[in-house]
Amino acid sequence: MRGVRVWARVLGVEGAVVEDVRLEAHKGEDVLVVTVRSGWRQRGRCGLCRRRCPGFDQGGGLRRWRALDLGTLRAYVEAAAPRVACPEHGVVVAAVPWARHDARSTRSFDDTVAWLATHCSKSAVGELLRVAWRTVGRIIARVVDEAEERSDRLDGLERIGIDEISHRKGHRYLTVVVDHDSGRLVWAAPGRDSATLERFFDLLGPRRCEQIRLVSADAAGWIRKAVVARCPKATLCMDPFHVVQWATDALDAVRREVWRAARKAGLSGLADEVKGARFALWKNPEHLTDRQQQRLAAIQQTNAPLYRAYLLKEQLRAALQRPVHQAMNLLRRWVSWARRCRLAPFVELARTIDAHWEQIAASLQHGLSNARIESTNTKIRLITRRSFGFHSPEAVIALAMLSLGGLCPPLPGRR
Ligand SMILES: [Zn+2]
Repeated sequence: MRGVRVWARVLGVEGAVVEDVRLEAHKGEDVLVVTVRSGWRQRGRCGLCRRRCPGFDQGGGLRRWRALDLGTLRAYVEAAAPRVACPEHGVVVAAVPWARHDARSTRSFDDTVAWLATHCSKSAVGELLRVAWRTVGRIIARVVDEAEERSDRLDGLERIGIDEISHRKGHRYLTVVVDHDSGRLVWAAPGRDSATLERFFDLLGPRRCEQIRLVSADAAGWIRKAVVARCPKATLCMDPFHVVQWATDALDAVRREVWRAARKAGLSGLADEVKGARFALWKNPEHLTDRQQQRLAAIQQTNAPLYRAYLLKEQLRAALQRPVHQAMNLLRRWVSWARRCRLAPFVELARTIDAHWEQIAASLQHGLSNARIESTNTKIRLITRRSFGFHSPEAVIALAMLSLGGLCPPLPGRR
């Protein structure tokens, strides 16, 4: 008797009664199969709402759930999976205490997958648990679904950031919402348009929408449209991060132009130099390696327009790091410099900044931490890259919510 309870504990299937434990040969390896049944308290409940319901039939007979390995052995939990007739959900497979509804693995297995997916490399998760990355995607989507139902992460939002992130080649985008105060990712969905964003505001409801004081975003018109329509008390502002991003893009446009012109003129040495300096031009000067510093110095010697573009980008970045009054003064001077700089992408950028003047001023005024926005942004991008191989955007979102939304469950048996 005591042995039976030990098995339930070891497998993390409390609430189940262990009936039998045996070894079985399966595809050339020995696996451990533990036959269980639900405790009487857990029996005959709807798999979706857990309400006690009349039985319907025996369903598909015996079912197996993948459980955590036992030492070196792959382990399965085996049990009957009868169906019940729920007044609300119709005929569904009865709930089992050891697994989530519709899952083919136990709750402790799923939680372990979720934990590992946020803490280890893709290959480590696969090797250790002997699961395909696609299966990982399905499992974490399930874990996040459940965690979202329980959490109140949409409560108390006042300052949020909205962004669009591409998560696959072929321009598939996610709309993401970040809480500026906690730095957490609070919501994400496939698509980038007003209708997608309005679904988030639907979820918040009018009362919580009214509590939103500040929304930062890039210049996208669809974000503005939805925010204006749904958040009556919100000030829209522009993340300085995006402004710096524009400058980096402008710099890159100048670099490409210089490179093209050099190639056309047969100056292959100059073309190579410009190409090689790409990262030196992008990086913040304090992070440059010696070699990159030399490259930049060479550009200064040989290529005045490109170096001017570099200075423009760096000055803009530095200006936006100052306290608000200084920053706005510096920005005003920057705009008048950029207008006269004879580099088309920066002349254009000066115009864009002018057009968004108030939104940029608002974000500096409200002291949104640019570093934090940028780092959350970078993390989301890394996660979307890592999630390559997942089947659905839901799995990509789940991985992001586990890692950045505070929804990762603890390892089974720990707190
Ligand atoms: Zn039900």
